[in-house]
Amino acid sequence: MYIYDSFSRSKRKFKNEGKVNMYYCGPTVYDDIHLGNALSAVRADLIRRFLIAKGYKVKFVANWTDIDDKMIDRAVLKKIKVSELAAEVIPQIEDVYNKLNVLPVDQRMFATRSMNEIFEMVKILLSRDVAYKISDGIYFDVSKFEAYGQLSNQDLSALEAGTRVDVNDEKRNPQDFVLWKHAKPNEPIFKDSESIVPDGRPGWHIECSAMNYIAFGGETVDIHLGGIDLKFPHHECEIAQSEACFGNKFVDFWCHNGYLLTDGEKMSKSLNNFKYAKDLFLEFNPLDLRFFLLATHYRAPLEFTLKAMQAASNARYKLQNFYAYIFKTTASKDSSETLLSSIKEAKQLFFDAMEDDFQISKALSHIFDLIHLVFHKDDYTKSELGALQEFLTEINLVLGVFKTDLQIPVYVLDLAKKRYEARLNKDYATSDKLRMEIHNLGYQVRDNQDCYEVY
Ligand SMILES: [Zn+2]
Repeated sequence: MYIYDSFSRSKRKFKNEGKVNMYYCGPTVYDDIHLGNALSAVRADLIRRFLIAKGYKVKFVANWTDIDDKMIDRAVLKKIKVSELAAEVIPQIEDVYNKLNVLPVDQRMFATRSMNEIFEMVKILLSRDVAYKISDGIYFDVSKFEAYGQLSNQDLSALEAGTRVDVNDEKRNPQDFVLWKHAKPNEPIFKDSESIVPDGRPGWHIECSAMNYIAFGGETVDIHLGGIDLKFPHHECEIAQSEACFGNKFVDFWCHNGYLLTDGEKMSKSLNNFKYAKDLFLEFNPLDLRFFLLATHYRAPLEFTLKAMQAASNARYKLQNFYAYIFKTTASKDSSETLLSSIKEAKQLFFDAMEDDFQISKALSHIFDLIHLVFHKDDYTKSELGALQEFLTEINLVLGVFKTDLQIPVYVLDLAKKRYEARLNKDYATSDKLRMEIHNLGYQVRDNQDCYEVY
């Protein structure tokens, strides 16, 4: 198995078996997530699921960033406490993850519950003079960490001339970044029981280093995931802090996912060009969105358009239809078993593609080839059907795009019938209302030329 590592900028061989520790940089919980955040979560989920399917013992850890500037600003705006804001937003994000069939994490970290380890790390860095105090906080001295800039492939002099560096005359080097911010009025404060670190709150980067430390005890993390926008400065700073504290290599493989684009630009809250994931659920089955987000290679950018989304929805519908057919149809008594070798081959090709840095488009093409080959066959033998069912179940553990509960309740079918009639009578208001009702029950209706389907 080969995985591309952003640090070495090369595809490297991944270990063959055993446990795999994964850490995913989760969102700041000041607002519900947009499509770009959803893309990052779904692509990390695909990688995780594939490693599980390969038999690795995966421990998947992710965090909520529940204290930072954005949290404070939004809480002030809403006239509530930062903790109340987190308590309001986290269930909304979890709901989106559930609908997108993102597996629950093995361990969920909260920045605000990681203060002991944050204090511990800041103190270690202070004691080694890698960190120093100035009037507004405690900073990391990047000149004390030789590898600073390696992940993002920049040298310090280039960074010095860069625009992303905050200027502060008291800092030893312009690139030094904040570990700890001293208390300000109306901001939440955290207290060090030993009073070595003054009252205040952590910088964003140290939070993730400390949460990795809690989850994995300072061991090398096998795979660290997150959006490509986190590579610098966030992940660069995580490496510096963790390695300067614990000495050993922080992360073995850095996997950065590409951006979600809209009109060629990165979708983000700061550019105000975003669409909430939950808003798309009004028009599409959440599994359609999942399929759209994962069907392109995880490192590649993905342009969001309604047309592309519709195409993904159609493709997933094809898969779902095939799945339903294979699980509902009955075997014939025919004894020829011509399909078995094709099914076996499709499975092998699917795994081969995914083992090569998760080449999902290639992997999916083998599934569609198989569907093309077998869908119109009407006499499956028992073992062919069994093999197809097993294959679909297995790939769904990786993809998570099939709705596996195929029973549609009678009351949903009734609603769908009423909606279709309303539509024929051009009563679009009623038809839309019923579509929403069906959607809220977890089902979708789809109109074909002269009939409708529920799934
Ligand atoms: Zn992080």
